[in-house]
Amino acid sequence: NTPIHVIGGGLAGSEAAWQIARRGIPVVLHEMRPVRKTDAHKGEGLAELVCSNSFRSDDSDLNAVGLLHHELRQAGSLIMACGDANQVPAGSALAVDREGFSEAVTRTLEDHPLITIAREEIAGLPPADWDSVIVATGPLTSPDLSAAVLEKCGEEGLAFFDAIAPIVHFDSVDLSKAWFQSRYDKVGPGGTGKDYLNCPMTKEQYDAFVDALIAGDTTDFKKWEANTPYFDGCLPIEVMAARGRETLRHGPMKPMGLTNAHAPDVKPYAVVQLRQDNALGTLYNMVGFQTKLKYGAQGDIFKMIPGLENAQFARLGGLHRNTFLNSPKVLDGTLRLKAEPRLRFAGQITGCEGYVESASVGCMTGIFAAMERLGQPVTTPPETTAMGALIAHITGGHIAREMEETGGGPRSFQPMNVNFGLFPHVEVPKVDADGKRIKGKDKTQAKKLAFTRRAKTDFAGWIAPLQPEG
Ligand code: FAD
Repeated sequence: NTPIHVIGGGLAGSEAAWQIARRGIPVVLHEMRPVRKTDAHKGEGLAELVCSNSFRSDDSDLNAVGLLHHELRQAGSLIMACGDANQVPAGSALAVDREGFSEAVTRTLEDHPLITIAREEIAGLPPADWDSVIVATGPLTSPDLSAAVLEKCGEEGLAFFDAIAPIVHFDSVDLSKAWFQSRYDKVGPGGTGKDYLNCPMTKEQYDAFVDALIAGDTTDFKKWEANTPYFDGCLPIEVMAARGRETLRHGPMKPMGLTNAHAPDVKPYAVVQLRQDNALGTLYNMVGFQTKLKYGAQGDIFKMIPGLENAQFARLGGLHRNTFLNSPKVLDGTLRLKAEPRLRFAGQITGCEGYVESASVGCMTGIFAAMERLGQPVTTPPETTAMGALIAHITGGHIAREMEETGGGPRSFQPMNVNFGLFPHVEVPKVDADGKRIKGKDKTQAKKLAFTRRAKTDFAGWIAPLQPEG
C-alpha cells in the first residue's frame, strides 16, 4: 500500500491530501514549516491564509468564484467544509476566522488514519522511489526545490515573478472607437492581419493619460519583494511613463503601422493595443500594460482610453514575487510534468491565482492522482465548469496550444483568477418568461445564470462516478 506524497501543506496540498485519503489511499504530506519558514507565512498551521481572510463571493449563481465554491462543496472539499464551519460575517462573501480555519484543516488531516504529516523541507527532486508525487509548494516554493524544478523544466519552464497586464472582457470594448488591425497588417502564423484591437489617442488624450499614470497611486513592494527585478520589456507602464513623455509613444503605445478604421485620415498620436487572450475571443489583454498601480487607480486611469470607457476587467494588472510554471508548455492535461510524469503539480505554482482557485487545483490533482493509483480512468472536468475552465487555462487548452500547433509559439503565460471569460460560449435566452426582450443589466445577469446553470449540471455529471464509496 504505497503512499502518494504531497509536498506543501497549503491550500492546494491540504485539499489534495484529503481527496486522496478519502479514496482509501495513504498519503504522506510534507510541510516545511515550522522547520523552515517562508517570507509570508506566520505560523505552522496547514492551509494558512497569508493575507486576506476572504474566499470572495459565495454567490454560485452570478459569480465565477462562487461557482468554484459550489463545485468544491460538491466534490466533498475539506477547505470548503472548514471554511463554512469557521465563517465570519461578510455579506455575500465567504470570509473565515483564519486561526480557526487553519486549525480545523490541520486537526482533520492530523487525525486521518491514512495521512502522515512530515514536517520537513523537500529540498530537491523527490526520491526516485516515490512513484506518485504532488508538488503544491505555492508562490513561495523553497529555493532548493525551485532550483531542481527549474533544472528539470529549463529556463522557460519556471518564473519567479509575475508581470500581469490587465485583461478586459471583449464585449465591454466600444467597437465604435476601437478597431481590429495588426501592425502593418502583418499576418503572423495562424493570424489574420487583424489580430489586435486598437484604441486611438489624440495628443491631448495621450498627455492627460501620461499625467494620470505618473500621478497614480502604486502599491509598494513588500520588504521581501524589494529585489523584484524589472525585466527588459516588462517595465511597469507607470515607470515607463515617468522615464519621459515620449517613452510610451515609442514603446507599447506606438501608433506606427496602424490606421484608424473609423477615421482613416486622422493619424492617431498614440495607440493602446489589446491582444486576444483566450481561444474563445472573450478576453483581451492590454499589451505592455503590466503595472504596480493600485486597483482603484487602474480602473480610473485605464477607462480614460478611448474605447475602454466602459471596460469590464476580468483581471487587473500586477507585479509580484510568484513562483509558477509555464504550465501550457511543461504540464500535460492532468497536471503531470511532461519531463517526469510521476510528478503532478497543484495550486498557485500551476498558474492559478487565489486561495479558492489553488484549493480547486489541489482538489482536481488529488482526484487525478487517486484515480491513477486505483487504475481508473483519469478524466478532467468539462470546460463548461469553473474547475474545467481553470484547468483549461492552466494546461493551455485555450490559445497556447493553438499557437503551438500553428507554429506561433506559446503565448507568455500569466496567472489567472477564475472568471466567466474563461468559459465557452453559452446560449442566453433573448426573452423573459413574459416574452419581453431581455436588455442591459438583465442581459448580463441572464448570461451569468446561463453559465452557472450549465456548469452545475455538467459538474454533477463529472464528479458523480469519481466520488468515494460510502
Ligand atoms: P501555499 O498556500 O503558499 O502553500 C504552499 C506550502 O508549501 C506552504 O505551506 C509552504 O510552507 C510549503 N513549502 C514550500 N516549499 C516547500 C518545500 N520545498 N518542502 C515542503 N514544503 C514546502 N490569495 C488570495 O486569494 N487572497 C489574498 O489575499 C492573497 N494574498 C497573498 C499575499 C501574498 C504575500 C502571497 C504570496 C500570496 C497571496 N495570495 C492571496 C495568493 C495565495 O498565496 C494563494 O492563493 C494560496 O495561498 C496558494 O495556495 P498554495 O497551496 O498553492 O500555496
